[in-house]
Amino acid sequence: MRALLLDLDDTLLDYSGGVDADWEAAVAACAPAGLDHRLLTAIAETRRWFWDDPERHRRERVNMLGAWQHIVEFALRHLGVEADGLAPAIARNFASRRREAMRLFPDAVESLEHFRRRGVSLALVTNGDASLQRDKVERHGLARFFDVILIEGEFGVGKPEEIVYRHVLQALDTAPEEAWMAGDHLEFDVDAPQRLGLHGVWIDRGGHGLPATTRIRPQRIVRSLRELTEAGG
Ligand SMILES: [Mg+2]
Repeated sequence: MRALLLDLDDTLLDYSGGVDADWEAAVAACAPAGLDHRLLTAIAETRRWFWDDPERHRRERVNMLGAWQHIVEFALRHLGVEADGLAPAIARNFASRRREAMRLFPDAVESLEHFRRRGVSLALVTNGDASLQRDKVERHGLARFFDVILIEGEFGVGKPEEIVYRHVLQALDTAPEEAWMAGDHLEFDVDAPQRLGLHGVWIDRGGHGLPATTRIRPQRIVRSLRELTEAGG
């Protein structure tokens, strides 16, 4: 391994932990009593539907505050409720709760330090909102570890487009066979880089194993970044 490309959300940063609780708290803080329970249920259903569509996912993930507002708007419409200003208020409240709540996984910094010591070139390759992703990098002190940081919202294109990985390899001056990519998303972080010749590592923190329906075969499956330091030497 000469170079390692790493995903950010749910790979280095615990992005999903506590999400349900933060929606609940944001709705409780902003919605009138009597509406909050119905709205929370509608939001839970809407979130799944909203992010399940790959095209909507791609379009909306580069403006997360807007996406969260759209989710609440859809949920309100589903309930037949008109409430001026409620959707943006809940979205803002939720966004600030998420910002406060997100933490690096406990093995993130030690693993990054390990790879730096070993002389491995490091790239952060993350989809999503330019300002939110950049804020996470700053807030969690990640920039110092990486030779290259590619954020979809800044670059203009995201994973799994080939140009993303090619651009990063070129910036690192590394051939695909010498590079590994690791992340929690089977298509974006394993399958797409494998097609270009990179070594694909799936981070399965929950230990659920590969979904029965997938044809994707990672070269390695690890449960943590620490395990990846052992695999990568
Ligand atoms: Mg991820």
